[in-house]
Order: sequence, then structure tokens, then C-alpha cells
Amino acid sequence: RELIGTAPAAEEKALEGALRPKALDDFVGQQKVRHQLSLVLQSSKLRETAADHVLLSGPPGLGKTTLAMIIAAEMSAPLRITSGPAIQHAGDLAAILSSLTEGEVLFIDEIHRMSRPAEEMLYMAMEDFRVDIIVGKGAGATSIPLELPRFTLVGATTRAGLLPGPLRDRFGFTGHLEYYTPEELQQVLRRSAGMLDMNVTTEGFVEISTRSRGTPRIANRLLRRVRDWALVHEVDEVDRTTAAQALDTYEVDALGLDRLDRAVLHALCTKFNGGPVGLSTLAILVGEETETVETVAEPYLVREGLLARTPRGRIATTAAWHHLGLTPPDEGGA
Ligand code: ADP
Repeated sequence: RELIGTAPAAEEKALEGALRPKALDDFVGQQKVRHQLSLVLQSSKLRETAADHVLLSGPPGLGKTTLAMIIAAEMSAPLRITSGPAIQHAGDLAAILSSLTEGEVLFIDEIHRMSRPAEEMLYMAMEDFRVDIIVGKGAGATSIPLELPRFTLVGATTRAGLLPGPLRDRFGFTGHLEYYTPEELQQVLRRSAGMLDMNVTTEGFVEISTRSRGTPRIANRLLRRVRDWALVHEVDEVDRTTAAQALDTYEVDALGLDRLDRAVLHALCTKFNGGPVGLSTLAILVGEETETVETVAEPYLVREGLLARTPRGRIATTAAWHHLGLTPPDEGGA
């Protein structure tokens, strides 16, 4: 998963940051969410108050962090970034909350992974801009109420359904990010290629976009790999053929499936004759967490018509068998 995984090296991270759009108008696609969000922000600017809390859901790499940064920029507010797994104790959250300034935007990535006590503290902070800090232990413990400045919480999660209801309900606005169309990804790629000083033909962009799994982060990463390939092979202009050759080298297939996607389909077809198979069994077989299979791999496979979720479990579609170069059972295979 190195190539399209979620933990890029430092240099890649810096590049990723440089390629981030800084304003809502530069943010490609997601028309609905962008429009709704711009209303929320404009209204709070007119009312001269911090924006309502915003929840962003959707698979990794679709622009949740970028949107949080844009929200802060549009509100001319400072931004604090943290994540659910980093907030294990209520005290961790209390420390962050009590140091916020008026109007500050607090971004909590993977907010569904926060610990229970922290989550409960967050309810009160979101609703009443107040927390109770417990000082001391046992019978001598006292709770000190602490007023907080009005802040805007931006939470990100791979699936809104992973959040407990009471937390979900405290967000004034929820935006669900969808996979990008190839045309939208071409826009992202064009902008990035300009910044990377790369010369790519229209067909070249089309080829990279269709292998980008509907995801801007992957599009940008593939573009950098194509740049490496072109540089080493002394190719000045990247066209469809060179883009395809480069991406074949990195084992990104024509549908953009990554190793996890393919492992899931492969396990389904070869170990279970196409299914149905329960999600947890599937996750164990591919050596991943259930949540990763469910929120990272599956949504894209379902969208591409390669996998179906049924009450009895997951099944591989005929298209999945063909994509793997296997013969489906109803055509005499397996
Ligand atoms: P997430 O937080 O959802 O995992 P990020 O906001 O970190 O995703 O986005 C990953 C990368 O993809 C960013 O570096 C950014 O450059 C790019 N990106 C995401 N969404 C867009 C978009 N709508 N337009 C242009 N680039 C985008």
C-alpha cells in the first residue's frame, strides 16, 4: 500500500500540502457541499460569529482536511489540527479546548475514534461552549466549570454512520464528499501539473484520471509517479501511452484498483467462489481491519460495480471476475 496508502513520506507530504487549494473557489468538484458550506460561512460572517460546527464524511483523500483549512481561511480564523486517536483521555481534549481562541477552527480528523469520555466532554463543549474540569481524585475531587470561547469544530470521518447519534446531532451542517468524476480529477491534475512544471497532453490527463480511484490525493500521487518515470526516461511530454506505461510499472491497473481492492476481490472469487461472505471474514483474509475494508475499499468497489453488499454478505459481481482475468462460475469457471 506504499504507493496509494495513507502515510506518505515527508517530502510527499510537503508536496501534498503545496498542491492543496487554498480557497473554496479553487476547490474542484463537490458542487453541492461547496455551495451549502459557502452559505454557512457567509451567514456566520454576516452575523459576525463563529461558524456552526461542520461534519465532513467520505473516504480518505477526498478533501476533508483541505476543506477544514479552507473554512479557517475563509473565516480568517486560526486552525488547530488534531485527530480522534490522539485524544485518548478527556484531559487531552480539555487541554486543547481550553487553549482555543475566539472563532478558532478546531479540526478533528477520524473523530469517530475518540475515546468515550473525551466524546462526552465534546458534547458539552460543542453545545454550551463550556467544559467541566475534574480536579483531584476520589472524595476530594471537585469539578470546575470552564467557559470556552466560541469556536468552530470541523469533524472528519470516513463514514458518518460510525459516529454515535448524540455527537452527529450536534453538528449544524454535515457534508458528504463523493468520489470525483474523471473530468473533475482532470481539473485537479491540470492544476497540479502546472505547479509541478509538467507537460502532459489532454489524453495523458485522461489516462491518469481514470486510474485515480475517484480520489484527488491518489490523482496527485500518481501524477508525481508519472513525473518520476518521465524524468528518468527523458520524456518531455507525457501522453496517453507514456502515462499508461508509467502507471503499469507501479501496478495501478486500468480501473485504478489498489492492492487492497484487488486483494478483497481476489479473496472473494478464489476462496469463496464469489461469495456471499461476511465482512469480518473478508477482512481477516486480506489482513486488514474490518473498518478499513468497509470504509476504504468497499465504497469504491461498489461504485465500480465490482462488489455487491447483500444481507447474506459480500459478493463479487461478474465484472469482478472478468477484471481479475478469471472465469465466473456461471460461465463454467472455478
Ligand atoms: P482527506 O482529509 O479527505 O483525507 P485531503 O484534504 O487531505 O483529504 O486531500 C488530499 C489531497 O488531495 C490534498 O493534498 C489536496 O491537494 C487534494 N485535493 C483534495 N480535494 C481536492 C479538490 N477538491 N480540489 C483539488 N485538490 C484536492
